[in-house]
Amino acid sequence: MLDLPQSEETPQLRLQAPVTQTAHVETPTVTVGSIANAAIQQTPTSEPRKQLPESYVRTLEVGSGDTLMKILLEAGINRGDAYTAIEALREEYDPRRLRPGQKIEVTFQPGLHEDMPHSFEEMRLNTGFNHNVYVSRETGGVYKAHEEVKDLVTTLRHAEGTIDSSLYVAATEAGLPASLLMEFIFAYSFDVDFQRDIQKGDRFQIMYEEVATEDGKHKKVGNILFASLNTGGRALPIYRYEDKEGRVAYYDDQGKSAQKALMRTPINGARLSSGFGKRRHPILGYSKMHTGIDFAAPSGTPIFAAGDGVIDYAARKGGYGKYIRIRHNSEYQTAYAHMRAFKKGTYKGKRVKQGDIIGYVGTTGRSTGPHLHYEIIKNGRKTNPLRVRMPAGKKLAGQELDRFFAVKSKFETEYAKLAPTTSIERLASAE
Ligand SMILES: [Zn+2]
Repeated sequence: MLDLPQSEETPQLRLQAPVTQTAHVETPTVTVGSIANAAIQQTPTSEPRKQLPESYVRTLEVGSGDTLMKILLEAGINRGDAYTAIEALREEYDPRRLRPGQKIEVTFQPGLHEDMPHSFEEMRLNTGFNHNVYVSRETGGVYKAHEEVKDLVTTLRHAEGTIDSSLYVAATEAGLPASLLMEFIFAYSFDVDFQRDIQKGDRFQIMYEEVATEDGKHKKVGNILFASLNTGGRALPIYRYEDKEGRVAYYDDQGKSAQKALMRTPINGARLSSGFGKRRHPILGYSKMHTGIDFAAPSGTPIFAAGDGVIDYAARKGGYGKYIRIRHNSEYQTAYAHMRAFKKGTYKGKRVKQGDIIGYVGTTGRSTGPHLHYEIIKNGRKTNPLRVRMPAGKKLAGQELDRFFAVKSKFETEYAKLAPTTSIERLASAE
């Protein structure tokens, strides 16, 4: 996969060294896939011409439908050189794996005179986040491929703030990358209903990793290691911990898994549109018990399995429309109604993990618009998903708990270094 650099890349065309002035085009941009018309951005210089022209680098971008041969020819490389370079590249990398948008840096050596052709010295492809392949001309004019793996440096970062209008605004102002905000929300989604519980004045603290190549050219965000959310007078710290079996999860400061056996909200970004209890039914017109909760969401929004379990119903079911029910254990089941479609390969008897997509929001059955009707069934009785005390997740014990406490205090020490003016907010009361 391509990496996602956090910072803006350098302009598409750039020069490593000043180039001798040649009377040529001045357009500084390159259009995808049409290298031939692209110009080399010139560094204006009034200096007299140097004796030996220095090599320069052009960054080419793969356009849709391009082959490497086409790109190199359009960059002015002669067919023979392009062919042998591509053959050499095949030793390390299959050129058919090139994807539109991928960048290729090509180094040229200008000829000694203006009318001499520029020779093709090297091409360099970024083939992974910290992984490059380059083909360079060796003595004798032979091209040879090399692999280059850059070391990674992990830096700890932190973001903290007070929520004035919304968590999103506060987190963005604190500089938290959007992908980590989603991870943060997911980590707390078992305990906190972000639609209803978050109030003005609530606070958050987050420590996360930033991974960069040694040269600092490529950066990406890593994991949240520690976070604390202070809401409604409760401080809820969580710590990332990998157990002996290699399973990674977030735990509270007592070593209890932040992840409960069931999710209250098995859908992302939805709005609670109808609660549990007696209400006037919008279609039937008379007062009726609403046996679940409704989340309004656009048609097609993925629906998750609220917990690990086995699907015990996956078919149409009267007013429920397309309906799935999962048995989690001898006590709990969850049900999902009005789906537009089931996820492919979802059938009765299939085992699912928490967070697996099982289907998509729709409006099948007796329904007025796209929404998910969600039920939690405890011992055969439909209960209010917002009220039910969630069956607890895993609790660490013994040596595993000792290891966890060591990791926890290490993270707290690191956080204190990053944010010396604030202190870590601790669990206000043990539950
Ligand atoms: Zn409903």
